[in-house]
Amino acid sequence: MNKHSVTLSETQEQEQMILDAIDKWLDRDVKQHVQKFDHADEYPHEMVQQMKELGLFGATIPVAFGGLGLSASTYAKIVERIATVWMSLTGIFNSHLIMASCVARMGTPEQKEDLLPRFATGDLRGGLALTEPDAGTDLQAIRTRAVRDGEDYVVNGTKTWISNGIEGSCFALLVKTDLDADPRHKGMSMFIAEKGEGFSVSKKLEKLGYKGIDSAELVFQDYRLPAARLLGGAEGNGLQAALGGLELGRINIAARGCGLAAAALNDSVQYAQTRKTFGKPIANHQAIQLKLGEMATKLQAARLLTYDAAHAYDGGERCDMEAGMAKFFASETAVENALEAMRIHGGYGYSKEYHIERYFRDAPLMCIGEGTNEIQRIIIAKQLIARNPA
Ligand SMILES: Cc1cc2nc3c(=O)[nH]c(=O)nc-3n(C[C@H](O)[C@H](O)[C@H](O)COP(=O)(O)OP(=O)(O)OC[C@H]3O[C@@H](n4cnc5c(N)ncnc54)[C@H](O)[C@@H]3O)c2cc1C
Repeated sequence: MNKHSVTLSETQEQEQMILDAIDKWLDRDVKQHVQKFDHADEYPHEMVQQMKELGLFGATIPVAFGGLGLSASTYAKIVERIATVWMSLTGIFNSHLIMASCVARMGTPEQKEDLLPRFATGDLRGGLALTEPDAGTDLQAIRTRAVRDGEDYVVNGTKTWISNGIEGSCFALLVKTDLDADPRHKGMSMFIAEKGEGFSVSKKLEKLGYKGIDSAELVFQDYRLPAARLLGGAEGNGLQAALGGLELGRINIAARGCGLAAAALNDSVQYAQTRKTFGKPIANHQAIQLKLGEMATKLQAARLLTYDAAHAYDGGERCDMEAGMAKFFASETAVENALEAMRIHGGYGYSKEYHIERYFRDAPLMCIGEGTNEIQRIIIAKQLIARNPA
């Protein structure tokens, strides 16, 4: 056995140990409680504590800063497993880790030393504050403004749809520092903003699905931030910081899509063998077999796209096209599999006693978050053209 194969098997062994720990936790502490928390739209404090103990809030944070330093490939497998049981839980650590990746990639040495160890333990938790009431896809249209005042910046504006907005305490906050900049993105900056005077939660947002995790509107009113909290110590890099973090975010969404698509398929395979019509299990009817065959094939394709994107990310390659393809296909597969699972379950698919109606409510979010699927297709096409000049 050569040196390379030893290293590879050690990595695989480490990955398997982590995945086994996640599976045990899901079986022991999560599965039986999901419906209760989801239907009550209740934040799962105890599960979050357990996620801290498992190290999930430091999953992709470098070991040097107290994280687990996992590859995107291992991370994607963790996310898929958790999303198969309850997709909402993955949102609690995903946007937190994207915030951490902004600091790891673009922060000053002091910012990394100060923030990353606290992010890794989960003592400081939060996410991304990019979207505003009038600006989602078109982030360059944001209006939240930060104005320099001595050693501080003073921030005014509103952010909406912010995951972990209520339970989290720290956010990567995208602002305008120069309204007249040309191009517009040069006037955008990112701050690492901890809750304090002038930073308030104005409302909890009610949603179709994605229950349990808090989505909130945040208001900044003469909120003072020390200049030391400007990411990277320089103005003008905000959009780059936001978009750079989205590759990992899109791999995460793709993995969540795979988890939901797998859950819908697994439940359907079981149900189809026990539910009988016309004297035989519905799994013996060809109409049902066609559905199962298509669901399984799409799931496998979604997984392979997700692993491919994660592999490219781990190799340090530019992977917006791969992450976009994975996110687009896996999320659409989640929606399709959830609907097919509902048809296979008949009336029970519509019942709150089963999980299918939850998959059906949760899946469409995967088509919207981290860049809508319309935008993913445009990114894919642009990259395709850039990589294949005429
Ligand atoms: C549950 C939930 C959680 C969220 N969590 C967060 C979070 O933690 N942090 C955060 O910052 N944001 C978060 N968001 C916001 C999310 O990122 C935005 O909703 C998303 O980016 C889309 O923006 P929008 O809703 O403003 O839609 P819009 O940008 O208004 O888009 C509306 C429609 O127009 C299409 N469209 C827009 N521009 C183009 C174009 N150029 N070409 C073709 N089609 C186009 C879109 O695809 C979409 O179909 C969350 C949203 C939800 C629902």
